[in-house]
Amino acid sequence: MWSLRDWRRKRILARLAIEPALWQSVLDSLPILEGLTVEETERLRERSLLFLHAKRLTALPGVELDLTSRLRLAAQAELPLLHLADLDWYQGFHEIVIYPDDFHSPQKHRDSAGVMHEWDGEHSGEAWLQGPVILAMPGVQQSGTWEGYNLVIHELVHKLDMLNGDANGLPPLHRNMRIEDWAHAMQNAYDSLNTKLDADPHAHTAIDPYAAENPAEFFAVTSEYFFSAPDVLHEAYPDVYRQLAAFYRQDPLTRLQQL
Ligand SMILES: [Zn+2]
Repeated sequence: MWSLRDWRRKRILARLAIEPALWQSVLDSLPILEGLTVEETERLRERSLLFLHAKRLTALPGVELDLTSRLRLAAQAELPLLHLADLDWYQGFHEIVIYPDDFHSPQKHRDSAGVMHEWDGEHSGEAWLQGPVILAMPGVQQSGTWEGYNLVIHELVHKLDMLNGDANGLPPLHRNMRIEDWAHAMQNAYDSLNTKLDADPHAHTAIDPYAAENPAEFFAVTSEYFFSAPDVLHEAYPDVYRQLAAFYRQDPLTRLQQL
């Protein structure tokens, strides 16, 4: 059936065509894309181009953002969505701002007693509810390996979390998933991480202790590991891995093991 949406897509893609060699260099520069099938990398290429068409990437002074860097960012942004139906998952924001370095940002947090706390923190990224995503270039450049760090995925999955309101660690689940299963897996792992850190704030933890900050950060950090260190996440929190695999409809652990 003819659809306006498909027609628009094809027209945009025809206009944005890039050299196959350029796309290949983007793939080669991102180890976390290794092992994707030809069909998956082709879909990722199309969606990355559409992402760059839909979002404005604003580079602050001091940031060099050439087409390769833009494509690298877009490909990592689209990796989590690769097996999700082509809905507008990254809706509600239009801009990604790239800072040359980590930045200070006034923080606000309302605790359970209703008191607002504010403090200054050094940040490498932020995702504002109904606002832009902010990324610092050093973190962007470090992203893309199998080392359990990916600033791009971390900040963009906050946007998935925010699709149904505040960032609370619960993105809109698919119909074949149960909120109870999700909450159970996430809560158990979150509690166990917090128990460990409460006993010893310097304890060695399997995943970045920043995940213990709140449920939203737990979702973002475990998603980061899901795509960039699935073996570590699966070993530490197998139930969380399974829930994320059901949500993202991907199995990066198997892909990694086959490399
Ligand atoms: Zn975060």
